[in-house]
Amino acid sequence: MNNTLQGQVALVTGGNSGIGRGICLDLAKKGVKVMVAGRNTTKSQETKALIEEAQGFAEVYRLDVTDADNVHNVVQEIYKKYGRIDILVSNAGNTTGPLFTHNTPYEEWDNVLKTHLYGAFNCVKECAEIMQEKKYGRIVITSSLAGIHGLTAQSSYAVAKSGLVGLTYTLAKELGPSGITVNAVQPGFIDTPMTEQQLQMCGEQWKNETPMRRIGQPQDVATAVSFFCSPETEFITGVVMRVDGGFMLNLSVDTLLYKFASGEFGK
Ligand code: NDP
Repeated sequence: MNNTLQGQVALVTGGNSGIGRGICLDLAKKGVKVMVAGRNTTKSQETKALIEEAQGFAEVYRLDVTDADNVHNVVQEIYKKYGRIDILVSNAGNTTGPLFTHNTPYEEWDNVLKTHLYGAFNCVKECAEIMQEKKYGRIVITSSLAGIHGLTAQSSYAVAKSGLVGLTYTLAKELGPSGITVNAVQPGFIDTPMTEQQLQMCGEQWKNETPMRRIGQPQDVATAVSFFCSPETEFITGVVMRVDGGFMLNLSVDTLLYKFASGEFGK
């Protein structure tokens, strides 16, 4: 078995911003030919430039994951050119709100579910067939802590991210016999354009309630994704990995207890 990512081909959706950009860069530094996919190609070109600066290889594809025909055409174009797609990182995502569930318009609900769930479905549908032919593949899906915890005023997002966990487990069962692993990451608060406003509002509090005492960066998620993409992790599938600096372990009361035990309390 070839234990290196060198020369493999990856399609990364939402590769033109935030976490996806971090994933593209990390994979490219490991020798992967990265197909940067998103709707805004100017931003995708920025990712490509960063990759080339790091001596990596990237191409840009305009992709709307909600458009099944667009996904089909892009995947076929990549396949025709390279004869393989070894890695799919289904990372594209959006949010609404903040909107309480009962105030959420149907269109907003649809939009979020379509982007995350249909988006992942469309990409997996196209790539899985190619991977099955090769009896090899790595699929990584970006879920979220919201998928386990819920998220106030973003129920469509929480529902979509839960749905992606179900998809991950199901795909792991279906595709394992073909040598394809399917795993998911569940980032906590990561510093990206998506979280800019929330970070301003409650970043400090989040940081204090995180055992690692910082906000996550795209590279933190990229490290986990690259791990799942490695040829060496062939016995790891159906895993949903938190990437949150331990946030999920924490409760406000623990922060107080920590301060008490370390003598910081009341300072
Ligand atoms: P960004 O807003 O920076 O990135 C979102 C990406 O998704 C963009 O590249 C955007 O590109 C792409 N995208 C959105 N809609 C579509 C579409 N229809 N077709 C193709 N691409 C699309 O946010 P993040 O980097 O933070 O988010 C990346 C993923 O991580 C998302 O799935 C998000 O839910 C998830 N996540 C983020 C967390 C965080 O704290 N930041 C925490 C947990 C999960 P474009 O608009 O050009 O198409």
